[in-house]
Amino acid sequence: MTPCVLKFGGSSVATPERIRAVAEIVKRKREVCAPVVVVSAMGKTTDELLKLAYSVSRRPPPRELDMLLTVGERISMALLSMALYELGLEAISFTGSQVGIITEDRFNRARVLEIKLYRITDALKEGKIPVVAGFQGVSVSKEITTLGRGGSDLTAVALAISLGKVPCEIYTDVPGVFALDPRKFPGVRRYERMDYTILSEMASSGARVMHSRAVNLAAKYGLPFLILSSYEPEKGGTLVEKREHLESPGVKAITTMPIVMFDVEGREGLPLLARMVEAVRVLNFTHDATTGKHLVLSVPLEERDRALETLSEMGVRFALREGLSMVCVVGWGVSAPEIMEAIFSVVGWEHIFMMMGASDTKVCIAVEKEREEAVVGNLARKFGLYEAP
Ligand code: ADP
Ligand code: ASP
Ligand code: MG
Repeated sequence: MTPCVLKFGGSSVATPERIRAVAEIVKRKREVCAPVVVVSAMGKTTDELLKLAYSVSRRPPPRELDMLLTVGERISMALLSMALYELGLEAISFTGSQVGIITEDRFNRARVLEIKLYRITDALKEGKIPVVAGFQGVSVSKEITTLGRGGSDLTAVALAISLGKVPCEIYTDVPGVFALDPRKFPGVRRYERMDYTILSEMASSGARVMHSRAVNLAAKYGLPFLILSSYEPEKGGTLVEKREHLESPGVKAITTMPIVMFDVEGREGLPLLARMVEAVRVLNFTHDATTGKHLVLSVPLEERDRALETLSEMGVRFALREGLSMVCVVGWGVSAPEIMEAIFSVVGWEHIFMMMGASDTKVCIAVEKEREEAVVGNLARKFGLYEAP
C-alpha cells in the first residue's frame, strides 16, 4: 500500500481523549494507505517548556533550549503509539534523529537538509505505523536541533516529499483554510482549493494555520497537501496545490499580526540591520536619509523582548511604538489601483499608521490594535469574504 503522511498539530493531541480520537483517525486511514504519522507536542507544552527555560535562565543557551523543547514531541509520539496499540495496531515512535531528519548546524530554527528515512521504510515493511516526532532533527554535527515554532508542518511536508511525493494531510483544529481566522471572524469563506502562493503569503503574515516554510517547501517540489480538522475530518478541508490559470483575480484573504515598531536614531544602518535580522524576524524596515530618525523597523510582538535586548546591546538610541497590528490583504493582483483605493477608503487614510509594503499578492498596513477588528471586518465585507447568507 502507498504510504501517506498524516500530521496532527498540538490542539489535535492536546488531551488523552484527543490522542485516542487521533488513533481512530489513523486506524480508519489505514484502510486506504500506509500511514506515517507526524505529531506536535500536546497543546501548549512547547510554550510551557519555554517558560520553564526562562524561569532558570535569562538567556538559555540555544543548544540546551533545543534539548528541552524536543521533549514535547517525544511525549505525544509515545502516547499516540500506545493509543494505537490499544486499537490493536502495531505502532513505533521515533525521534527526528532516529529517522534521520538531517538539519543544518543551527539551533532553534534549523533548516532540513535531507531525510534519510532510515527506520521509516523498515517499519512500513514490517507492517508497523511509524509515529515521528515533528519539529526536530539532528544536525550534520550530530546535535539535536529544532526547526522553529510551528515546525511540525515542515517535518510532515519534508517526509511526504522524501517518501516520493506521497499524499500528505495536515490535521488541525479548523476544517481547512478560511479567508480570515475563523475563530476571530466566524462566518467567513472556507476554500476547497488554494494555490501555494496565497497560503504562503497568508502564513508569513500571521495566519498560523500552516507554517510558511512548509508551504514553500511543498510548492518547490509540487507536493499537494490537504488541511483538515481532526475534530471533524468528515467535513473535508482545503487542498493546497498549484492552480495555474484557475484563479480569478481579487482579494482572497486578510491576515493580522500584532507588531511593534522601533525608531532607531543614528547612521549605522547596515550593521544594525544585519544584527537585527540575525536576532529577530524583521517584517519591514524603512530608511529615510533626510531625517535624523534613521531607521524604522517592525517586528512581531512575540519578538519584542529579543529586539529590545539586541538594540540595547548595540548602544543605539531608539523609541518603541507598541499597540500596533499589521493587517495584510492577500490575493491576486492586489496592488492594482482599484484594490489599493478600496483598501485606503475602507480603512480610512488617517487610520493607516504606516504602509508596510505592497506586492502583486499582498498589501500590508499597520493600524492601531484597537482598530484591528473593525478594519478587518470592514475589509472582509468590502471584498466579499463572508459566506453568502
Ligand atoms: P496546530 O496546533 O494544528 O499546528 P495552529 O494553532 O498552528 O494548529 O493553527 C491552527 C489555527 O490557525 C486555527 O485554530 C486558527 O485559529 C488559526 N488561523 C489563523 N488564520 C486562519 C485562516 N485564515 N484559516 C484557518 N485557520 C486560521
Ligand atoms: N510544538 C512546536 C511548537 O509549538 C512545533 C509545532 O507545534 O509544530 O512550535
Ligand atoms: Mg501549527
